Amino acid sequence: MLRIGQGYDLHRCVAGRELWLGGVHLPSLWGLQGHSDADALLHAITDAVLGALALGDIGRWFPDNDEKWRGANSAALLRRVLDDPRVSGWRLVNLDCTVITEKPKLAPHIPTMREAIAGIFQCSSERISIKAKTNEHQDAIGQGAALAAQAIVLLRRAVDYPED
Ligand code: MG
Repeated sequence: MLRIGQGYDLHRCVAGRELWLGGVHLPSLWGLQGHSDADALLHAITDAVLGALALGDIGRWFPDNDEKWRGANSAALLRRVLDDPRVSGWRLVNLDCTVITEKPKLAPHIPTMREAIAGIFQCSSERISIKAKTNEHQDAIGQGAALAAQAIVLLRRAVDYPED
């Protein structure tokens, strides 16, 4: 059995917050607004995993009006999803992501982000793809007011594909 899922997220860019992307703290004068650490890339990835298995979305699992998740580490939230009995029997075939932002330049950080995400999935970073785009100074993302992330994930059921 194979399942495919896609996820999308967008957060506003605000001064005075740390910038977390893909489980990595990036040097930046601004961060993303949000109830948790606002890691838009990990949120898109989490939604892709949940989507693949038709298990709802990150907002249903971790409501942003629940004080329990204030300042939550998004890597821990994703790990919590992966450890759920409905998910834990599935393995990552591959994950392909796009981050859309004007700044900071992500290219130097992509290897670290791939390693961090591979660590969460407990797989090789060879299975993790992260691409960076700008919006060519158009719209809110292009003006630097927001950052968006997209993710597509393919999962295999471990019992059907024990190797690989
Ligand atoms: Mg989010």
